[in-house]
Amino acid sequence: MLGASFCPLDAQITTPLLVQRLAQASAEQGATILEHTRVRGVIESGGDVCGVTIDTGSIEADVVVLAAGVWTRALAATAGVDLPIGGERLQVMATHPLPMQVQPLVYGPLATKQYSLFRDLPSWRREDFTVAYESEQGIEMLQLLAQRPTGEILLGCPMDYPSEIDDRPTLDGVAAITEMIGQDFPGLRSAPIDRVWAGVLPYTADLAPVIDEVVPGLVVAAGHVFGNAAGPVTGRIVSQLIRGAEPQIDISECRFDRALEQVGGGAPTRW
Ligand SMILES: Cc1cc2nc3c(=O)[nH]c(=O)nc-3n(C[C@H](O)[C@H](O)[C@H](O)COP(=O)(O)OP(=O)(O)OC[C@H]3O[C@@H](n4cnc5c(N)ncnc54)[C@H](O)[C@@H]3O)c2cc1C
Repeated sequence: MLGASFCPLDAQITTPLLVQRLAQASAEQGATILEHTRVRGVIESGGDVCGVTIDTGSIEADVVVLAAGVWTRALAATAGVDLPIGGERLQVMATHPLPMQVQPLVYGPLATKQYSLFRDLPSWRREDFTVAYESEQGIEMLQLLAQRPTGEILLGCPMDYPSEIDDRPTLDGVAAITEMIGQDFPGLRSAPIDRVWAGVLPYTADLAPVIDEVVPGLVVAAGHVFGNAAGPVTGRIVSQLIRGAEPQIDISECRFDRALEQVGGGAPTRW
């Protein structure tokens, strides 16, 4: 191994718990949350968006906010809006709880491919940070181990760019993680595996989200590639946009009318 990075302040959020707590706080403030309810598209009247259709009917609204991550593109298209948001799949494998040993996160050298911070260094050479199993499995490794306070260790993360949105883990991804553990973390070879999953990160060509009213009555808040802690900030900005107030931070980099190039086609995005 050529090197690794370690930061004791990384890996502080268990995102499912954060999202559940945000939902609970919203409900306490009067929001109604409909789970397992798929929005099919937006409804327009006279050029204004005035609601959404769902599987069981429709919901009227003065303003509709599309904040559906990578799926926002298809929903915006139902209002005739082309939103250039792509999807980057990351796969993760979790062990059963193990004695604390990672505390809390270690990135490996293969992950440097993903970061301009490293790629822009004059001494950076792609071949030093690439291994054969990445091309064999058709992925790149965002190589990391993280251990949660419960003791479970997260192993990952194979990255790829399926042409259609696909948030299912693959055997190629599992094989890549297995290779990585065998080569770089052999002490975990016999770790008991609990589960495997994948998520799709939304991203735009300039890596900033779109937060804007894109047609009258339709606000988009999507394309957050680093969205874990950005939700509350985005929510505050969206509420200010809806009320016609000046956003409390400059959102010119997030406006829809900035020159956003198309993304996708399987080409990797870099952070
Ligand atoms: C393995 C992994 C590690 C990550 N690590 C980090 C990290 O360290 N830091 C960080 O900041 N970010 C990280 N991310 C990225 C982060 O998860 C995303 O940036 C964030 O989830 C985007 O939030 P979002 O609400 O915009 O979209 P999402 O979280 O994708 O939420 C979109 C929601 O919309 C719902 N939806 C979609 N279509 C419809 C529909 N038609 N009707 C109703 N609902 C719909 C979906 O079910 C989903 O619940 C990571 C992601 C992965 C997968």
